Amino acid sequence: MKSLWNHQEASQFTDDLAQRVYTSRLLGRDSSLVLHGGGNTSVKTRVKNVFGEYEDILYVKGSGWDLETIEAAGFSPCRMPHLLRLAQLPALSDPQMANELRACMTNPNAPAPSVEAILHAILPHKFVDHTHADAFIAITNTPTGDQRVKEIYGDRVVIIPYVMPGFKLAKLCAELFPKLATGKTIGMALLHHGLFSFGATAQESYERMIELVTLAEQVFVGAASPPRPGRIMTAGRGGNAAPTQQETLEIATLRREVSEVAGFPVILTVQGDVGSPNREGPATPDHVLRTKRLPLIGRDVKAYAEAYRQYFREYGNPSLTMLDPAPRVILDDTLGLCTVGRSVKEAGIVADIYRHTIDIIHRAEHWQALPARDIFDVEYWDLEQAKLRKAGPPPVFAGEVALVTGAASGIGNACMESFRKRGAAVVGLDLQPCPDGIVCDLTNEAQIRQALAQAIRQYGGLDMLVLNAGIFPQSSSIAELTMEQWRKVMQVNLDATFALMREAYPFLKLAPNGGRVVVIGSKNVPAPGPGAAAYSASKAAVNQLARVAALEWGKDRIRINTLHPNMVFDTAIWTPAVLESRARHYGLTIEQYKTNNLLHIEITSRDVAELAATMCTSIFAKTTGAQVPVDGGNDRVI
Ligand code: ZN
Repeated sequence: MKSLWNHQEASQFTDDLAQRVYTSRLLGRDSSLVLHGGGNTSVKTRVKNVFGEYEDILYVKGSGWDLETIEAAGFSPCRMPHLLRLAQLPALSDPQMANELRACMTNPNAPAPSVEAILHAILPHKFVDHTHADAFIAITNTPTGDQRVKEIYGDRVVIIPYVMPGFKLAKLCAELFPKLATGKTIGMALLHHGLFSFGATAQESYERMIELVTLAEQVFVGAASPPRPGRIMTAGRGGNAAPTQQETLEIATLRREVSEVAGFPVILTVQGDVGSPNREGPATPDHVLRTKRLPLIGRDVKAYAEAYRQYFREYGNPSLTMLDPAPRVILDDTLGLCTVGRSVKEAGIVADIYRHTIDIIHRAEHWQALPARDIFDVEYWDLEQAKLRKAGPPPVFAGEVALVTGAASGIGNACMESFRKRGAAVVGLDLQPCPDGIVCDLTNEAQIRQALAQAIRQYGGLDMLVLNAGIFPQSSSIAELTMEQWRKVMQVNLDATFALMREAYPFLKLAPNGGRVVVIGSKNVPAPGPGAAAYSASKAAVNQLARVAALEWGKDRIRINTLHPNMVFDTAIWTPAVLESRARHYGLTIEQYKTNNLLHIEITSRDVAELAATMCTSIFAKTTGAQVPVDGGNDRVI
């Protein structure tokens, strides 16, 4: 492991806190040192308060910040004397400690200090760095780990046996460190947890961390690459290989079962090949909080949940409420590694942590996870429980997947945003590339199937479908309309919509909260206009198709409703030139033309998108087969 310290870069970070920011980011750049908000750093400095007096302040990483991207505002300023007095208390519950940490800040608006703040305070050095480095964990999480750590570091680090993070750990370190530290000490090793380094400057502390981790890494240099027994993936699958339709259905079924056990919809991401499986628990307390204690091997979700309940009964006490018993990591013969989360981000973090754990296990000679009891204590840590309670309800579409057609512009694009901001994972289908989009020609059935398979591999299923894609051809009377023009409109507006509905149906049926479809219709359905025969007929046919779907799919808990927008001018077809010519045609100003409805209001793509998203919420739970205008009121429709 190489130091990333660069004098020129570092010289731009002038004061203590800025230097702290710089080397924290250096640590954050390496995922084998810190992963997704893991690890923390601090600096001790003196700050003048409003009375003109100097106070000793510990700036320690605040919760919610990631070392890789941390800024000065991400450090919590805590009064040192208060932290040091806390370390002298005989006992303190972790929620009490968290409360005290917040109370001793000089800025109440700063983020909550890391739970490891006291640990930083008791180390008598200006800069302190803390990581959960993979190489260190690979050494300590073995039956002879304690001995190995001693051999590698000698008297350069103080060794602290495993206790749960929180006040107990801070207290133990406060007692042991002064007794065990010598003139040679440059760090502190917390067994089964991670490493601390410290120094008089940011560079010294950072480079000592690199040195300590390098010493751990060197243990593995030259060691034969361990065999990877029990490969869980068979050749030929995984990676980017196209999944079969059968496999796509199996993924959606698995995700449905996990959601049922969890009690809420989840995102399930197929990550592909994992090498060999880790049947043991997570590597560090930090990992426990995100991955649950064991992976599910195979697909028996119910048996896993039962085993989890048993685990809870064994270790839990009456004051604890069981967390959802759904697995977060699934290892399957054909699908490989699948990860589960309440959001795409969460499922991604689980995958990263899992891969690092696998890497650590491959390096370790005889891997040994933390004992089940210790894992339980971390998993049901009262601090974490309080955090979950405080978090409030999740977004309305958390763990759900929405697919929007015609997503690259106009109403489709606005729908992407409306579903995304309600917490859904969104997939856009369009001929044009767009963010979160899959390029797809909806008139090609094979491409539709391919796009659905891709979305389901990525997110696990399909809960909501917005059928928006359509074309509005140039105005033409029936007398002048060619068969070719007619067929083109029918093909895009009607045939493609039908094909997608048919292909999406088996997946919508598996949606944990019931499938929902919103059809973006048109005012032309109830009130057609001359010169738009093909468009109006295609939209009327889609309308009828949706009504039949409502009749057929009600038994499957799939709701389908139609919106009839009119005069939505912020879309690609309404260029300023077109708008002006239409307004002139009716003898109106542009402003009058835009609000030419009963309510005299303008209708935007966002208005339509917000209603489409609302129709997928429980507000419309008891409505299917309905048609709702979004047109500001139209006397021909009413
Ligand atoms: Zn830690």
